[in-house]
Amino acid sequence: MSDLLGTIFNIQRFCTQDGPGIRTTVFLKGCPLRCAWCHNPESQRGVPELLFSSEKCIGCGSCVAACPNGLHTLRDGTHCFTRNGCISCGKCTAHCWAEALELCGKKQTVAEVMDEASRDRPFYETSGGGITLSGGEPLAQGEFTLALAQSCKQENIPLCIETCGYGDPSLLTRLIPLVDIFLFDIKLLDAQEHKKYTGVDNILIQQNLRLLSQRGARIILRCPIIPDVNQTPAFFDGLAELAAALSGVEAVHLEPYHPLGLSKLQRLGRQADYDRPTILDRKELIHIAAAMTKKSGKPVIVQ
Ligand code: SF4
Ligand code: SF4
Repeated sequence: MSDLLGTIFNIQRFCTQDGPGIRTTVFLKGCPLRCAWCHNPESQRGVPELLFSSEKCIGCGSCVAACPNGLHTLRDGTHCFTRNGCISCGKCTAHCWAEALELCGKKQTVAEVMDEASRDRPFYETSGGGITLSGGEPLAQGEFTLALAQSCKQENIPLCIETCGYGDPSLLTRLIPLVDIFLFDIKLLDAQEHKKYTGVDNILIQQNLRLLSQRGARIILRCPIIPDVNQTPAFFDGLAELAAALSGVEAVHLEPYHPLGLSKLQRLGRQADYDRPTILDRKELIHIAAAMTKKSGKPVIVQ
């Protein structure tokens, strides 16, 4: 099991927003949703992808000879990249000293990930932290996620999983005894609206949320607050009612939209579906959170 391969795009140490205490967050590539506002669009596809930052490129031309498919060219000293035909071999990145080229995603075994992610065990023990699996969507690499969760259990490292909830219910059931807290994303409550903005409806997601709660899992609801999408009294009321109704839900975290994903989309050569970088009034959101806390009986926190 420890030589099972997964596709990882980042392992980030000293995280404090992905569950209790100090944590190492392992980001898995691949997600079944396509949220219009996604702040990690490089996580969506399950395979490695090349990112190109034009603002870092110094036009040195070192990548031109490195690419076996001839996808990099220099025209009048300006670098041009033809993305179509890229096989994500990463050969060009090794020659780009300016770090304008970056391969996002690599295959790693369970043992390699655990070796890296368990290095901060002393910090986990003193802070009540641990490892968090995020993404992308960890359930999209089901067997790999399960093997990582089993390793965490064997090594006595607390585990959180951040999930959009759109995954195999039997996989979730197997994960319940291995996971300390599920960080469960709720983006929209209406099925048609959910489909419009994420590409899938939320029927399976809601079923899985109830399944986790009924089976005794500990859950924190994580909700991105997106202007003109779910920043509405109806959503806040519905969320408070949902939190109140499910015994497994311990808290609700509201996460204001930020436009970090826009520059990443550019580096992936993709167009933004949602580019409304309006940052919400934090004071207003804290006021809403206080009202939701009262209504739901569960702590609602603005992240
Ligand atoms: S990742 Fe490989 S195929 Fe893609 S541009 Fe770089 S060298 Fe060429
Ligand atoms: S190697 Fe990097 S910096 Fe040089 S031309 Fe290619 S992308 Fe630009």
